[in-house]
Amino acid sequence: MDVTLLGSGDALGVPAPLCDCEYCRTSERRRRPGLLVEMAGATVVLDVSPDVKEQLHAIEMPDVNAFFVTHHHFDHAGGLHELNHAAMAFDEHMLNPGAVASDERPRKASFEVFLTPTACLHLNYSNAHVAKHLDLNLLAHGDAVRVGDMRVVPFPVDHGRPMFDTLGFAVYHDDAKVVYAPDVRGFLPDREAGREYENADLLFAEGVALFRAEGHGSEAELRSALESASADRTVLVNCNEHFQRMSTAELRSAAADTEYELGRDFAEYQL
Ligand SMILES: [Zn+2]
Ligand SMILES: [Zn+2]
Repeated sequence: MDVTLLGSGDALGVPAPLCDCEYCRTSERRRRPGLLVEMAGATVVLDVSPDVKEQLHAIEMPDVNAFFVTHHHFDHAGGLHELNHAAMAFDEHMLNPGAVASDERPRKASFEVFLTPTACLHLNYSNAHVAKHLDLNLLAHGDAVRVGDMRVVPFPVDHGRPMFDTLGFAVYHDDAKVVYAPDVRGFLPDREAGREYENADLLFAEGVALFRAEGHGSEAELRSALESASADRTVLVNCNEHFQRMSTAELRSAAADTEYELGRDFAEYQL
């Protein structure tokens, strides 16, 4: 499996909106959350951030077989509006579609989106016009979705602040396992499929609470969650120099004192 970190930031990203503080001016850019996992015949994107258009153009990846959403917060699902624009038929965008010959028009795209029943309800309630153009599929804890030879298994996590229906994803191919859980106060090992977060070869998980900022929970809660995950390699995401009041270099050096790595947009990993 080839893995690309599309976004290592939090809900605001770096720079923060309309901020020109020292940290926003000088830090590496952090886009909102997202992970791309690909192998021969299958490409999936985990979380559809409001930056998804730029993220996928930057890595020249126009073909994605399926999109998975951890939960309905803007930074994880706001990009569904972008997918909607791409999925609308060309004629629906145009006032005078007859001006463009049919063989000149771009093909009509369609997108498979997998999300929780709660996220689906939110989308249908607040943005029914978006839901209408997407192929929405509901996820259940522990029920694997097969995409080519890849299996994507949704599992429940404790989002904290507030606690509500949120997923992590375990992606399997052969013996390799990648886990993605960007917004976590902790894990829920006693729930159905709640132990899917354990023993990954590569884990992407929240990092902000380790360094001078409250995350979705406290530093102690996050430390114990990451320890219990027992991943071979852990990459910290959901970081933000603006909130942490640390430069990227300071953050990277603080991360080097832990056994974890600081995430960076468009970093690539192979399993
Ligand atoms: Zn700032
Ligand atoms: Zn969230």
